[in-house]
Formats: sequence, C-alpha cells, structure tokens
Amino acid sequence: MSICEQCKEQGKKNSRSKPHEQLSKVGEQRIFKGVKSRRFEEQDYQCQTCAAKFTQSNNKNDLAWTLWQS
Ligand SMILES: [Zn+2]
Repeated sequence: MSICEQCKEQGKKNSRSKPHEQLSKVGEQRIFKGVKSRRFEEQDYQCQTCAAKFTQSNNKNDLAWTLWQS
C-alpha cells in the first residue's frame, strides 16, 4: 500500500513539527539517557489513512520523522 500525501510531507518535517491530523500515537514515549549523550525521546505513530508507521525522534543523529516501510 502506498502512503498518503500527508505522510509524504511528514517525512520531510523536523523534530519539532507536530504529527499530521491522521497520525495517532502508538504506545508510550521512549526516553533514552546516555552517559555522554544528551537525553532524547522517541514516539511511534501510525497513520489512520494509509497505515504508515512513523517514529518521531529528537535525537540529533536520527531523522526527525522515520517512516517504516512495510
Ligand atoms: Zn498516511
């Protein structure tokens, strides 16, 4: 199944951007604390329109919005 236009756009956004309206949170926010690295958080989302799954991360070394292709 192909992803919807909103999800295509979501993948280009930065970590401070909000999820689009059809994205629902999946599970709880994950908080990572490294000894040397700064703390960061991840949150999974799934689209109600096209069922695409995203992980939002504010880790500087990761993509802000990672789309998981099924
Ligand atoms: Zn979608």
